[in-house]
Amino acid sequence: RGAGMSKERMMEIRRQYCNPMTMKVTYYKKPVFIHQGHMQWLWDVDGRRYLDLFAGVATVSVGHCHPKVTAAAEHQLKRLWHTTSIYVYPPLHEYCEKLASYFPDPLKVIYLTNSGSEANDLAMLMARLHTGNFDILTFRGSYHGGSPQTMGLTSNAAYKYPIANGLGCTNTMCPDVFRGPWGGSHCRDSPVQTIRDCGCAQGHCMANEQYIGQLKETFATSVPSRIAAFFGEPIQGVGGAVQYPKNYLKEAYKLVRERGGVCIADEVQTGFGRTGTHFWGFQGHDVIPDMVTMAKGIGNGFPMGAVVTTPEIAASFAKGVHFNTFGGNPVACAIASSVLDTIKEDGAQQISLDVGTYLMTELAKFRDKYEIIGDVRGKGLQIGVEMVKDKVSRDPLPAEAMGEIFEDVKDMGVLIGKGGVYGQTFRIKPPMCITREDADFFLAVFNKSIKNYMDRR
Ligand code: PMP
Repeated sequence: RGAGMSKERMMEIRRQYCNPMTMKVTYYKKPVFIHQGHMQWLWDVDGRRYLDLFAGVATVSVGHCHPKVTAAAEHQLKRLWHTTSIYVYPPLHEYCEKLASYFPDPLKVIYLTNSGSEANDLAMLMARLHTGNFDILTFRGSYHGGSPQTMGLTSNAAYKYPIANGLGCTNTMCPDVFRGPWGGSHCRDSPVQTIRDCGCAQGHCMANEQYIGQLKETFATSVPSRIAAFFGEPIQGVGGAVQYPKNYLKEAYKLVRERGGVCIADEVQTGFGRTGTHFWGFQGHDVIPDMVTMAKGIGNGFPMGAVVTTPEIAASFAKGVHFNTFGGNPVACAIASSVLDTIKEDGAQQISLDVGTYLMTELAKFRDKYEIIGDVRGKGLQIGVEMVKDKVSRDPLPAEAMGEIFEDVKDMGVLIGKGGVYGQTFRIKPPMCITREDADFFLAVFNKSIKNYMDRR
């Protein structure tokens, strides 16, 4: 139980002194007052336990206050909190060498930052300096950050402001095989298939061809003939676990490179084993990007981010001075290093694959049973459950209904997330230490909450 400030007082302070946005996004009608965390569990100030299937937005990778990571942080806190990267100190070098070993050649040069937005800002700058081009493409529905530059990459009106932002960024059609005009059962790399019949001829993916056609149209109409970069999440996170047709990224990368651009994988949500089959989401698309950006899971909740790129791109960037006071902080590096070890030692990637596949397979049965569950998708523990008014129209389930189910799931002791351009998708991205028993508990809770909603309707 949390001793200290009352809930009423915290809400008063929140209203008076905190970013007013935080009032808008308390997420729940009855807010959750979190006091403590351990692995996949959170406790509120009244001592009530929640199964955390959102992990602070796919951020707590190996578990809240994981004992091994906490020990690594404590060890470093007693030695050196901070020194800038102009000095040479072991944690930064140990970490960069270790992180580089997780990437294929030629992705070997690492820049450490403090957040995902910062990593993407840096990647934008490097892409522009390296190519000498300015224009950058991203998918509609994507989220790549909230800084003025990355706001241009992000393609969701909720995160846009009416100021000059992200000049030179164009958001192209997302090859979403569920909500988009084309796609279906054979399109995506997921343990569960869509309910849509794609109508593809055997061995020939019509949907991919159509979406690539849209990308070509963007090239023909909306950007100059030479571009700087293309950013893509291997699976959209905030967009609602949106997956693309097989081979789409591979073909898109080719088209981008033909136009002088570099290809950037935003692994802020999909990296560090979360997709189960691979350590990095891009590996599931059989591509090698020119840059990869990371954050969230990199530090199990400790603020940190990174960009990895090729020596060639790094050389183009080395002409000026790039400095970041906290990027490469010794405590952050010690934590991130321990996160990599812990993922390996705890078999977190395998847990993602096993428990994630189990969850999706069971959720797909709910989809077949309930008219309001339109799609179940994802890979590993990056799961989306897209809610619809009905399966024929596929119109998004209205916000009020989403809110009711969401609140009910929370009241029964499970925290999940919400996302999608229309707020229509439940997001499940827990710490990668959950068990099948936890999955069963969530499935029972989710089933009950859907039933409750259907009964009230
Ligand atoms: N990229 C992706 C895919 C994200 O999900 C986020 C955060 N939701 C960001 C970038 C930005 O990260 P940060 O909030 O650490 O700036």
